[in-house]
Amino acid sequence: MITIQNGTLLCGEDLHPTVGNLFIQDNEIVEISDGRARGKVIDAKGCLVAPALINSHIHLGDSVARDEGDGAPLDEIVKPPNGIKHRILRETSREDLIKFMEVSLKDMIQTGTTTFVDFREGGVEGVEILKEALQDIPIRAIILGRQDSFQDQHVTKSQLDADIQKILEISQGIGISGFGEVEDEVATQIAQECLIKGKIPAIHAAENEEVQLQSLKNTGKTEIERALEAGFKLLIHLTSATNTDLKKVTENNVSVATCPRANGALSSGIPPIREMRDLGINLLLGTDNVMINSPDMFREMEYALKVTRGFTQKYFSPVEILKMATVNAGKAVGLNLGSLEEGNLADIMIVERISRDPILSLINRTQSKNIIGLITDGRILYQR
Ligand SMILES: [Zn+2]
Repeated sequence: MITIQNGTLLCGEDLHPTVGNLFIQDNEIVEISDGRARGKVIDAKGCLVAPALINSHIHLGDSVARDEGDGAPLDEIVKPPNGIKHRILRETSREDLIKFMEVSLKDMIQTGTTTFVDFREGGVEGVEILKEALQDIPIRAIILGRQDSFQDQHVTKSQLDADIQKILEISQGIGISGFGEVEDEVATQIAQECLIKGKIPAIHAAENEEVQLQSLKNTGKTEIERALEAGFKLLIHLTSATNTDLKKVTENNVSVATCPRANGALSSGIPPIREMRDLGINLLLGTDNVMINSPDMFREMEYALKVTRGFTQKYFSPVEILKMATVNAGKAVGLNLGSLEEGNLADIMIVERISRDPILSLINRTQSKNIIGLITDGRILYQR
């Protein structure tokens, strides 16, 4: 049993500041009350006790190519097989690839993230490489794999099916690069097979205006319409979504992972976080490719909040941003995660309270040095 006492708890789905003690048994939050401390006691006086962060979209595999290709067109950087990142990946040994991934995994833990959703390339081997990097690092990985054959225009239905099954056996779902690289029929087969197996089908969609216009020109439909028709349940970006797109996303009850810093870095635009929030879409936040961003969710939250206010010239509540990095993400991945509630997994960060406003203290002020404790699955990862 662990008791976290004397802190301000950000409780429930509203992240409501509450004074009390939080009790952990095994990997679960078993009690939130003013009861007396039991077991190992962590004193959180002067601290906020909040759900640990969930990074809903990252490409960890490109950690080796940090800040390469800045200023080049997106295609030149990431389009297979000869994009800058593919060239770098080809020249990197498996051993080095793993080392760079480990650095990013440790960065995440140091910045309060205990769960991430990774778009993993390279088929079965790609997933195995990530699992090797994860071996000694206790962070929860939700791996969405992908096979090279998904992009092969001549692949047969039965071969495709076999390749989908191979990936689903070792991962939590499939993450597709986008409709630029995968045919609609293939995308549909992938999404449907994921759903049958209870896994997550995810795809990049409407990352910028150009891909949306291209999609309309080629098919008469936007990327988002195609993604919804195929059956994807997690859409990444939606930076250049139309109003009709957003209505359809709402009706289909899918989650959207926005990556505002990545969109900024690649001159793609600003995701319509406010509009999506107003429509009631389950919104998440991700740091996207490690090539262009540090995997630091605090930086992502701050940028997301301020760019949304600046862009819309309206107030936007910071608690909505914190929910994107915690509560909403827990719902999207189907785990009892992302909020301090009895019965949920004990993934918790204890952070020095720097200002009077607890949510802004996290979003505006917190650095890794301010995180004095991090717990995942009821296990203390560090305590300072
Ligand atoms: Zn991405």
